Amino acid sequence: MGHRKGSIKNSSMNEIEIQIKRSSRRTLSLQITREGQVVVHCPFSTTQEQIQMFVDEHRQWIGENLEQVKWRLTKRPVMTSEQVWKAKSLARMTLSAKVRFWAAKMGVTYGTISIRQQATRWGSCSSKGNLNFNWTLILTPEPLQDYVVVHELAHRLEMNHSDRFWKIVESQIPDYKERRNLLKTYENQVTVME
Ligand SMILES: [Zn+2]
Repeated sequence: MGHRKGSIKNSSMNEIEIQIKRSSRRTLSLQITREGQVVVHCPFSTTQEQIQMFVDEHRQWIGENLEQVKWRLTKRPVMTSEQVWKAKSLARMTLSAKVRFWAAKMGVTYGTISIRQQATRWGSCSSKGNLNFNWTLILTPEPLQDYVVVHELAHRLEMNHSDRFWKIVESQIPDYKERRNLLKTYENQVTVME
């Protein structure tokens, strides 16, 4: 099975480098690797013209996905697993201190504090008061970290997102709405190297 690099000219895009991987498969398929390499997987018998046609047909898909991958690669910092490990322990120290501070100020108790890799949530609070925080919170500005801590601790008083809940948050963090909105811009902010 030969891996041949072919450069294919695409009319509406700049020249993009395409890697051709031939195998005993029956159909053609496209792949964009995490590193931003476009790969055409095709049967051994596929001609250069067929590959060209296939790429032309999918140029919009390639363009969109390539842009996304490149954005991720260039705009988002890439962290090694060692850097992540350090960030996690920093997150544990920093957020534990913040929980202690805000819990005393708000007059609430809490259980354990866990630092996790949560894909979509910054934090959570169980009915027993156990707190979970996303380690990437440590990569956001401190006022946003405070907001998340106060938000989770406010669940010790209100286990929902009712008006009463937001009143509690607001009593501690008057500009919580701005912080909450700002936090959204920090989602998926880092690429972890594996
Ligand atoms: Zn909540």
